Amino acid sequence: MELKFYNTISGEKENFLPENKNNVKIYSCGPTVYNFNHIGNFRYYVFCDVLRRSLKLLGYTPDHSMNITDIEDKIIRDSLAENKSVEEFTQKWTQIFFEDLETLGIEKIEHYPKATESIPDMIDIIDKLEKRNMIYEKDGSVYYSISKFSGYGKLSKIDTTGMVSGTRYDTDEYEKEDLRDFVLWKAPKLEKEKFWETKYGNGRPGWHLECSAMIRKIYKSGIDIHTGGVDLLFPHHENEIAQSEGAYPEDKFVKTWLHCEHLLVEGEKMSKSKGNYYTLRDLLEKGYDKKSIRYLLLSYHYRTKLNFSLSRLEESKKAISKIQNTVDRVMEARSHENIQQKEPENFAKSAFEEFKNGISDDLNIAKSLGTVFDFLKTVNSGLDSGSLSAADLEDVAIYFKKINSVLAILDFEKKPETLVDEEIENLMAERAKARQDKNFKRSDEIRDLLLSRGILIEDTKTGVKWKRN
Ligand SMILES: [Zn+2]
Repeated sequence: MELKFYNTISGEKENFLPENKNNVKIYSCGPTVYNFNHIGNFRYYVFCDVLRRSLKLLGYTPDHSMNITDIEDKIIRDSLAENKSVEEFTQKWTQIFFEDLETLGIEKIEHYPKATESIPDMIDIIDKLEKRNMIYEKDGSVYYSISKFSGYGKLSKIDTTGMVSGTRYDTDEYEKEDLRDFVLWKAPKLEKEKFWETKYGNGRPGWHLECSAMIRKIYKSGIDIHTGGVDLLFPHHENEIAQSEGAYPEDKFVKTWLHCEHLLVEGEKMSKSKGNYYTLRDLLEKGYDKKSIRYLLLSYHYRTKLNFSLSRLEESKKAISKIQNTVDRVMEARSHENIQQKEPENFAKSAFEEFKNGISDDLNIAKSLGTVFDFLKTVNSGLDSGSLSAADLEDVAIYFKKINSVLAILDFEKKPETLVDEEIENLMAERAKARQDKNFKRSDEIRDLLLSRGILIEDTKTGVKWKRN
């Protein structure tokens, strides 16, 4: 099956035909680093990860970038409030962002350009636009005159008739109704505000400019895929097109636009005032595990709204253990040998094809997961009846390893032997006695033994407790 994507700009599912399969140029709008990202943001970052991993599974090699916006209205406001330099302030939040990506099993990508390191590339685009008479200056800031770009509105399908030339916005975000010229270069407004000296005066870049500049800087051309959340469609992506195609009219800027839908919590828009606002760290503190969070975020098709709830996290946990239990059985049956790096060839071949068919259909991972659960039944009944040959088992192991290169939720390591509750209770009692007798050598031995079997001991107000890790 051919790989197809729903391209926002054409409004159709299209065959994906990159210029070079071995170098697929992808750009994903990244975070503004001034706060913890919420779970809705992570839905998008997991989507970017699934896109990248799926392309790899299907035989493409991505060359992928995600920008780090480290200069912007909110960053200036919050860093000044904390009396910190922009660098010090954004460094902390950038690090937290990367830690959170790692927690969710999101793969590192090829490029993470920073806005503050791309200023000359932004000036270069303004130069190109100036030569084509598409910009103007007002009160020390530089604006893009959208009436000079005939394609304005082609992505968001915004109606530009009735547009009033020369009205403008210098905020980074605004609504569709507020169709106006947007700022490319902003004169400083606050005292102590960070600025760069350039031929367009002292100032800093508008947010929209950085993505156009970074794409040019990294790829020297247009790109195959551009991703973002649906909230970025207008004005951000519309403005990116205007800047890039305005500066380089001979180049097609983006072939395929992919937009990831919103996440709702219990059917409502997430907001701090409603108390339904979660960062990744909030959920981990509540005791939800990272794999369940990743699974829930990836298991819904990216173009549908995801209705997040804590009970759905519990369901995700169950879904993962269902797959993991079968993986464990298969690994046990083949004595935990290393799994060969190849594709399934016989017993699991058609199941693997079905998995690939799902993701090839505009990344329909829900469809792929459905085929995984069907295949689990076949594998489990084969294991129950002992009808699977060594070659079958090997093929199934290869299948799991392959699908996990997209899902990133399974574990192939041999697990330490677990203890039943009664054995643990007996050891706990023996440890309490040893401590009473001041036999600390024995009590430490027991603690280490329990730890090696994944049992944690905690001293609480109501006495010593244990839990499974
Ligand atoms: Zn962007």
